[in-house]
Amino acid sequence: MKTHARVVVIGGGVVGVSTLYHLALKGWTDAVLLERAELTAGSTWHAAGLLPLFNMSYTVGQLHKYSVDLYKRLPAETGQDVSFHVTGNLRLATCRDRMDEYQKYCGTANTIGVPFQVIGPQQVRDLWPLVELGDGAGTPKIVGALYHPDDGHIAPADLTMALRKGARSRGAEIQEQCEVTAVKRTPSGEWHLTTNKGDIVAEHVVCATGNYARQTGRMFGLNVPSIPVEHQYIVYDESPELKAYRQGGGRELAVLRESDQSYYLREERMGWILGPYEAGAPARFADGVPDWFGKSLFEGDLERLLPHVEAAQRRVPSLANCGIKDIVNGPIAYTPDGSPLIGPAWGVRNLWLNEGHSFGITAAGGSGWQLAEWIVEGEPGIDMMAVDPRRYGPYTSKRYVVQKNEETYRNVFVIHFPDEERADARPAKTSPVYDKLARMGAVFGQRYGWERANWFAPPGVQAKDQWSFRRSNYFEHVGNEALRLRKHVGVIDLTPFTKHEVTGPGAESWLDGLVANKVPAKIGRIALCHALTRRGGIRSEFTITKIADQHFYVVSAGAAERYDSDYLQQSLPADGSVTLRNITMSRGCFVVAGPRSRDVLAKLVDAPLDNAAFPWLTSQVTEVGLATDVYLLRVNFVGALGWELHFPIEYAHHLFDSLFAAGAEFNIGMAGMRAMESLRLEKSYRMWGSDLTPDYSPYEAGLDRFVRLGKGPFIGKEALEKQLKAGVPHRFITFEVHGVTDADPLGNEPLFDRKGNIIGRATAGYFGHTLRKSLGLGYVKPEFAAVGGDIEIEILGERKRATVLVDSPYDPENADLRA
Ligand SMILES: Cc1cc2nc3c(=O)[nH]c(=O)nc-3n(C[C@H](O)[C@H](O)[C@H](O)COP(=O)(O)OP(=O)(O)OC[C@H]3O[C@@H](n4cnc5c(N)ncnc54)[C@H](O)[C@@H]3O)c2cc1C
Repeated sequence: MKTHARVVVIGGGVVGVSTLYHLALKGWTDAVLLERAELTAGSTWHAAGLLPLFNMSYTVGQLHKYSVDLYKRLPAETGQDVSFHVTGNLRLATCRDRMDEYQKYCGTANTIGVPFQVIGPQQVRDLWPLVELGDGAGTPKIVGALYHPDDGHIAPADLTMALRKGARSRGAEIQEQCEVTAVKRTPSGEWHLTTNKGDIVAEHVVCATGNYARQTGRMFGLNVPSIPVEHQYIVYDESPELKAYRQGGGRELAVLRESDQSYYLREERMGWILGPYEAGAPARFADGVPDWFGKSLFEGDLERLLPHVEAAQRRVPSLANCGIKDIVNGPIAYTPDGSPLIGPAWGVRNLWLNEGHSFGITAAGGSGWQLAEWIVEGEPGIDMMAVDPRRYGPYTSKRYVVQKNEETYRNVFVIHFPDEERADARPAKTSPVYDKLARMGAVFGQRYGWERANWFAPPGVQAKDQWSFRRSNYFEHVGNEALRLRKHVGVIDLTPFTKHEVTGPGAESWLDGLVANKVPAKIGRIALCHALTRRGGIRSEFTITKIADQHFYVVSAGAAERYDSDYLQQSLPADGSVTLRNITMSRGCFVVAGPRSRDVLAKLVDAPLDNAAFPWLTSQVTEVGLATDVYLLRVNFVGALGWELHFPIEYAHHLFDSLFAAGAEFNIGMAGMRAMESLRLEKSYRMWGSDLTPDYSPYEAGLDRFVRLGKGPFIGKEALEKQLKAGVPHRFITFEVHGVTDADPLGNEPLFDRKGNIIGRATAGYFGHTLRKSLGLGYVKPEFAAVGGDIEIEILGERKRATVLVDSPYDPENADLRA
C-alpha cells in the first residue's frame, strides 16, 4: 500500500467508490480508497437498488438525475454490466393533496429537466395491469399518478464494481481489508491515517463510511449528525399471476409506489420485493457500529410491516398468493432532514464528508460528481446548501438525531407540504421569550434547531397549522399581522440570526477582501455585503455594521451559523490581526417596524430618533429602557420605518415587556415569519438560501449596487468582471401572478414565455397582503426581464399569466423606510 496520497477515501460502499471514480475522472489519480472489509460490505450489498428520481429538493433532484444518466453510460465505458432495469416508476395518488404534491414536484422536475408524466387512473391500469384501481371503500381510489419513464432499479454491487473499474483504470488504488483506526494531523497540515495495513499520509480525506459515520467522525473530533435506522423489505416467491403476465409478453412492470400507504413494490425474479417505510423503526448504532455486526442484518420484524403488507395486497391482490421468501432488515444511514451530508467538514481543513445517505444507490453518482468538483476545483458546480454538512450545528445531540431520524424515516412517504413543521425533538432551542410568544398564540416552526413563530393565532382561533400547497387556515391571520406592521407597528423575534464580532487592526481590510460591497468605513454605518464564490455566485449575505474603530458586527441568516462561522474562521489571516467571535447565543434580536415604531422606541430611548439624528442605514450603541449596550440598527427586512434591536440576551424579557407596554397605545403586535415573507416579497428583498445562492451572481440577482468592482481585490471579482463582459445569463424579476384564487407561487416553479418555452424559474412566492397581489420572485433569461413583460408560471399543474413588476412593487421610492 502507498504511504502517501493526495486524497484518501475511507469506505468502499457505492458512495466511496463513486467519489474515488469522480476524483480520478477529474485527474486526481493519486487517490487511495481504504475499505475495512470488502467493497459493498456496508449497506450497499443489501440495498433494493431502486433509483427514484422523485425528490422535492432542487439540489438533490439534480444529483439523482446525474446518477441515473451516469449509470446508463457506465457499462459502455467500463465494460461492466450494472443490471439497470429501466422499468419506469409509478407513484400513485389517492387524494388531492397528494396530486398537489406531485404537481409541485413537477415544477422542480421541469426546471432540472427530469422527464415525467402526470397520468390518470386508466393509464395507471394500462401501465400496471395487476393493480386494483380501488373502490373508495376498502381500497382507496386512485385519482392519478406520477410516472417517471427513466428510472427503475439497478444491482448495487454491480454498480459499485463498474465504478471501481472506472476508478482503477485511471490509476486510483483500492485497498480492502484495510481499516482506518486512528487519525492525527501532521505538522505540515496533512492527515496521518493509521490502518491495520500500515500508515498513510494524505492531503485530503473523504469519509464515506455509511453506518460508521459517527465513529469515523469521532476520530476527527466531529459530531456527525448521521445515525442509521432499521429498514426492511420483503422478498416474495414467484407470483403465478406475474409470471403469466410476463410470459404473455408483458414488459417488466414499473416500480410501484403507493405513497399514501407508504410502500414500494418491484419485480424480482417473477416475484416481488415490497419495501415499507413503517412507523416504529428504531434508530441503531447511535454510539457506533459494534465489531460483531460486520456484514450482518437484523432480524426481520414482520409485525411492524403488516399494515403495509395488507395495503399492498389490497392494491395488488395477486400478492396474497405469494409466499414470503425472506425479510431483509438492514441499517440505513439517516440524517435529521433525510438528505445526505456532502461537502466539507467544519472546523478543519481538507476533510470532506459524503455520509448520511438513505438513498445512497441513487445519490452515489451525483454526490461523487459534486464532491470531486468541490475538492478539485475548490467549489461545487451547483448550489449544494441543501446537502452541505454545515447546515447542521452543535445542537444535533445524540437524542436529537435519534428522534429526528426515526421521525424522518417514518415520514418518507408523507405528503411533503411546503409549510410542514415536524413535531419530534421540539422545542429544543428557544428564544428567551418563547413562552411569552406561545401565550400570544404563536404557531412555531423549526429552523436550525430554533423555534420560530410562523404566525400568531388570535384569541378563539386554534393555534395549529393546516398544512397545504394552497392558502390555508393561517392566511387571513398572517395578512392581519402584515397589515398591522404596514399601518401601525409590529415586533418580530429574530433572535436566531447568526451574529459575529470581528475586531482587530486587520478587521476592515480582511472583511473587505471577503465581500463584494465596501465595508462601512464610518462608525455607525451599515452595509449589506455579499461573500461570493470564486465563480461569482452568492455564498453568504452579511449585514455589516461598524460599531467602533476596528470593531464590526456581522449578522447573517440564522440557518447559516455553522456555514458562515466556519467560512469566516477558515478565511482568517494567519497574522493574528483579526479576532472573530461567534456571539449568536449572547445577543437577541427584536425587529420593531411600522410607521409608529419611532413613537414606541422614543419612550424607551433618550437619544433622538429623527432622520437627522438617526438616518436610515445607520446604527447606534445605546440604552433602551433599562438595557445597556443595545445595538440599534435602522434597517429591517420588511421595508418599513423600523429598527432592529440587537441586545445582550439577558435583557430579552425586559425589552419585550417594555416594547409592548410602550406600544400599547399604538396597536403594537407580533408578526411571524410568514408575515415577514409576505412583506419582504412586496419589497423584492432577496432571501439568502432561496433567492440568493451560489447558482447566481449579484449581477444576475440585480444587486449591482452592492458590488464595488473598483475597490480592490475580493473573492469572486474576476468572475464578475468576466460576466459583465460576456453578459449576464439571467435577470432577477419580481412578478405578479394573475387569476390566483388559492395557490400562490412558493418557489421552484418553472417560468415560461407566452409560447410555452421555459425561460427561468421562480425562487420564492407568496401573497402580498398590502398590495393584494399574488407575488413571485425568480430568474429569467434577460430578454424576458423587462417591466410589464408577459410571462407564464405553472402552479400545481395550472398555467397562469404573470406580469413582470418593478423591483420593490411596494413603495419603490423607499419613502416608508426613510420616513
Ligand atoms: C434494506 C435496505 C434497502 C435499501 N434500498 C435502497 C434502494 O433501493 N435505493 C437506494 O438508493 N438506497 C437504498 N438503500 C440505502 C443504501 O443501501 C445506502 O444509502 C448506500 O448503500 C450507502 O452507501 P455508502 O457507500 O454510503 O455506505 P456503505 O455501503 O455502508 O459503505 C460504507 C463502507 O465504509 C466502510 N468503513 C466504515 N468505517 C471504516 C473505516 N474506519 N475504515 C475503512 N472502511 C470503513 C464499511 O465497511 C462500508 O463498506 C437501502 C438500504 C437498506 C438498509
